[in-house]
This record gives sequence, structure tokens and C-alpha cells, in this order.
Amino acid sequence: MNDRTQTSAAARDGLVIRGARLLGGEPVDILVRDGVVAGIGQGLSAGENAETVEAAGLVALPGLVDLHTHLREPGREDAETVATGTRAAALGGYTAVHAMANTEPVADTAGVVEQVWRLGQEAGRCDVQPVGAVTVGLAGENLAELGAMADSAARVRVFSDDGKCVSDAVLMRRALEYVKAFDGVIAQHAQEPRLTAGAQMNEGAVSGRLGLTGWPAVAEEAIIARDCLLAAHVGSRLHVCHVSTAGSVEIIRWAKSKGWDVTAEVTPHHLLLTDDLVEDSPVGSYNPIYKVNPPLRTRADVQALREALADGTIDCVATDHAPHPVEDKETEWAAAAMGMIGLETALSVVQEAMVETGLLDWAGVAERMSYAPARIGRLQGHGRPIEVGAPANITLYDPAVRAEVDPAGYASKSRNTPYEGRTLPGRVMATFLRGRPTVLDGKLA
Ligand SMILES: [Zn+2]
Repeated sequence: MNDRTQTSAAARDGLVIRGARLLGGEPVDILVRDGVVAGIGQGLSAGENAETVEAAGLVALPGLVDLHTHLREPGREDAETVATGTRAAALGGYTAVHAMANTEPVADTAGVVEQVWRLGQEAGRCDVQPVGAVTVGLAGENLAELGAMADSAARVRVFSDDGKCVSDAVLMRRALEYVKAFDGVIAQHAQEPRLTAGAQMNEGAVSGRLGLTGWPAVAEEAIIARDCLLAAHVGSRLHVCHVSTAGSVEIIRWAKSKGWDVTAEVTPHHLLLTDDLVEDSPVGSYNPIYKVNPPLRTRADVQALREALADGTIDCVATDHAPHPVEDKETEWAAAAMGMIGLETALSVVQEAMVETGLLDWAGVAERMSYAPARIGRLQGHGRPIEVGAPANITLYDPAVRAEVDPAGYASKSRNTPYEGRTLPGRVMATFLRGRPTVLDGKLA
């Protein structure tokens, strides 16, 4: 791997990014001053002490925004911390992540969301926007202090019991009604609990052959259909987490055709991987590296998800970065934890699944990995086009390289990537958060 970006003196009074292909277009110089984009054009100069980043051949994207990251702190610092997770995010090209609420303790009070928000500020490499729990302790019985979390220093706008489904229709209705007051959104982990009791993988031909308890598509689709109807009924905003089936796509398409305020995300792994990997893969059969919630589905589902992301039915890509320590993952299938890390490979997987297949160009990637997630999360200061006056949140990406995934060098504390040994395209060469490099030359700055 040769270093494609070079820095001069560590001057901080200005920065010129030379020859970057803005959203994959013609090369331009991007001038950054005081954390803001100050100019875009040819042959720009920032003055004597300015830092220069050579970006010939690199694609300039707006800093990526993740709507769905598990940072595990507080409580499971053996899996990830805010510090390690935000380093992984920066290396993946992210300038902001939404931290999911299923920590220990659960982020269901103003106190816990403010704690996570402060930890993010201290870490400094990537903004951390806490997600608040919908119900106390994720127990699905009583609404959490949604208003207090919204009014807190963390300014929570996204609420989710992710990891668990808000399965009680009355509670879901009340949550949707409640968040209208502050333009919040309920992000639902759509999993009908009774239909998925003991479920181990996608219900289908492969689960039948392997004798593993199946996870039917209808368990996801039934909740999404119900919640779309509830959101329409109360006139509130619904966001559907990690859509994984072709049927879910059809329901969301229908809800959007009605003009209802429904948005949806898909994970990188659901855009690339299929359930037959559980039966046969380069790392054997029954390898828990492929155990994830919602489960990997079929090739037809993957194709439907790609088309839905391309045509806007699915609004954005969200990583569902779910770190687990080795002992929770390298065990027998039935006992293994569900989840995969994803921050450091998301852009590469999207390039492979969406860009190299001709389904998205880089402007389309910017919409789905930066603008849309920031919009859905009502996140300020992120997800804006790279233009004069905008905060200089910028990712420089080299789409031309191909390399074998080796998690040994990852910043994440966990190693549960399903791509180990696989060759993926592209590499994040630099990330700038309000003009300050968090990653340079492909390494933490
Ligand atoms: Zn989830």
C-alpha cells in the first residue's frame, strides 16, 4: 500500500486538499480554513503555513454519518469503547456516528445519554450522537424519559430499543406520538418476538438442511407493516433499522407511495452476504462469524435490497457495527453472540455491492452514507455537501486499490468481521472532522 496523501508541516492555519475528485468528478482543490470549506477550484492557495494534502486520484466525499453503531460503553468495554469505536469510525471515513442505547446501563435517561455524548467529545475523532432507548431498560413495558433525553445536552432525536423490538403496539403508538413534539424519530428493530423465539438463522432451504431454527421473513415484515400503519395513523416519523428481506422492501415502498414519513436503512453485510455462507464458506460451516440479527438472507433478498437502496426506497446505509469479544463469538453456533463489526469496511462493501455493479455513483453514495442519515437523525453540522461555507467534514477515498481484509490492524477492540481473508476494493486515505485530520495516509492522525 503506497501512501497517496502527503502532509507538509503541521500547520493549522489552513489546509489545501489538492486534486481530489469531488464526488468522483473532475479534480479540484478544496481550501479549508477555520474548520470550514473556504474555497473550491483550481490552483487554490491557502497561504504560506497551510498544510497540503495531495489527493490525486482520490474521491472526496462528505464525512460519512452512521445511524446505527454499537459503541458498547458504558458496560461492555471489553467489546468496544467510545474511544476505540470512534477511531474505527474515523478509519472508515465517518465523522459522526449514532451510538445505540443497548449499553449497560441502558441509555434510557438524560444522565446516560449525556455521559455517552461527553465520552464522544473527549475521544474527539468522530462526533458521537447518542440514541435514546424507547422503553425503560429496553424491557418493552414503560416509555423511557424521551423528553428529558431530547432536552439534555445530548439533544437526542433518534430513539430505539435496538437489539429488541418495541413489540407492544400500544407502546409503539405512544412513543411515535411522544417524539412528534421535538421532531424525533422512532428507529424500530423489526422482529416479532414470538415468531423468532430461539431463531438461529434465516428460515429457508439452508436452515432446513442444517437443522437450525428458522427466522422467518414475516417476523420482520409484519412489524414493519404494523409500524408504517401506526406512524401514518399518528402522523409521526418511523425509521426502520436494518431492512433484510425483499418483502420488507415492498412494504416500505408502499408506505412511501402513500406519502407517509417512513425511512429505512440497510447494512453493508445485508447488501453482500447470503445465508448459504452458514452452510458453506471459506471458514467452514456453522461459523458464528455469519450469525447476525437480522440474519443473512437469500440472494433474491440481497438483490431486492440493492435495488431498493439504488431507487431510494431504502434511504441509507447504516453499519449496525456490533463488536463482540472473541469468547462470545468463537464458540458453537447456538451459543454465539449475534453481530458483526462494520465501521472499517462499510465504504468498501458499498463500493463492491453498489458502485462496481453500476447501481450507484459516488454522488449516490454521498446521499446514502452522509446526507440521508444526518437528515433522518436531525444531526446538525454533518451530512452537508462539500461547498463553500459548509463544515469541513471530508473523506478522501481511494477506490482503485484492492486489498485482503486483515482485522489485525483494525482500531476496533473486536475482530468479528465476516470479511477476513476476503479481497475488498477501496481504502479511506484521509478523514477530516471540521478541518482537522482524524486520519491521514490511511492511518489515524
Ligand atoms: Zn437491531
